[in-house]
Amino acid sequence: MKLKSLYIRGFKSFAFPTKMNVDSGITAIVGPNGSGKSNIVDAIRWLFGEQSMKSIRADNREDVIFAGSEKNPPANVAEVKLIFETQEGTITVGREVSREGLSNYLLNNKPARLKDIKELFKGTGVGRELYSIVGQGQVDKVITASPYELRSLLEEAAGTAIYREKKKEALSK
Ligand code: ATP
Ligand code: MG
Repeated sequence: MKLKSLYIRGFKSFAFPTKMNVDSGITAIVGPNGSGKSNIVDAIRWLFGEQSMKSIRADNREDVIFAGSEKNPPANVAEVKLIFETQEGTITVGREVSREGLSNYLLNNKPARLKDIKELFKGTGVGRELYSIVGQGQVDKVITASPYELRSLLEEAAGTAIYREKKKEALSK
């Protein structure tokens, strides 16, 4: 599974629909302070179900919607999509919220449950609190992690965490 592109519309400072392609190798995002680099990471965390507003630097759910600027009116909807290329074809995951209260997770552009999205990415390291996103100040969190926390990190990286989940599910039936 490979991330091909990222689409952001009306999320935080992204007043206009913005598509970013991710090529092979390393992609670096550069820009002046306050230009929206961290907002891209916030968008990805939010898409994967981040409920903690603090960790995406917002006070309430509407704060993620573009608030307007001198030149541009506020947006009504915030939308984030990630497009992945897999062996089975293209997968699009997304999330949208509106000021009117609409709130949806999307799988291939159709409403889905966050659970379905999480299931799809289990074992890949992609998710709101997994190692695929290492935020500022998180490196020392790994260094000071307990053996138990380190083990779950390794299980996730090795792709075996999904079996632990499935075992738990089977035993509870
Ligand atoms: P730095 O280099 O300082 O880390 P950065 O490129 O990471 O900067 P961000 O933190 O991503 O910058 O962007 C911050 C900007 O996003 C601020 O100017 C802030 O006003 C703007 N912003 C955040 N939320 C919204 C919103 N809802 N509507 C409009 N602008 C927003
Ligand atoms: Mg930043």
